Amino acid sequence: MTPSLPWTAVALLGGALLLGIGGWALARIVRARSSGAMLAADDGRAAPVDLVSDRLGLVGRPDEIRRLRDGRLVPVEIKSRTAPASGVFPSHRVQVEAYCALLESTDGRPPPYGIVVYQGGVQRVVPWNSVARNEVLRLLETLRAPYDGRATPSPGKCRGCRWRDGCDARAG
Ligand code: SF4
Repeated sequence: MTPSLPWTAVALLGGALLLGIGGWALARIVRARSSGAMLAADDGRAAPVDLVSDRLGLVGRPDEIRRLRDGRLVPVEIKSRTAPASGVFPSHRVQVEAYCALLESTDGRPPPYGIVVYQGGVQRVVPWNSVARNEVLRLLETLRAPYDGRATPSPGKCRGCRWRDGCDARAG
């Protein structure tokens, strides 16, 4: 019977919309569970927390600290620039790794990862593992060394620079 066709179309459209809304809600729940509940924030949404580690000689205040369902803490850094094609920018990686090191030192439990949030809410994960920990410790060591006067990026200077891995300004 032809009059039933529009209702069929409406029902199909309604079903598709419900599926779409359901998928969107599910994606939000999955994202919230993987990034945790907000514990601290530097912009008034929650009280900020300063992380201080005498052992590392390091102080920092992440934009957010989130608590995962298993109790582990995750630092979040919010950036206004657009996300790179993949991963995070080197300086952002080092910054979030430093927050992970601070959380590990102050909370006693290593975070599984840190998060960088780019323009448009694009979230990128920075793993916290032995490679990342070594990078932070190495950078802290080199930062404590006297500055050797290299200020202007050039392929020749940057090639042998000890800060090269974490420097966005490097040439070549
Ligand atoms: S890598 Fe960065 S810090 Fe090192 S010389 Fe180049 S611009 Fe300067």
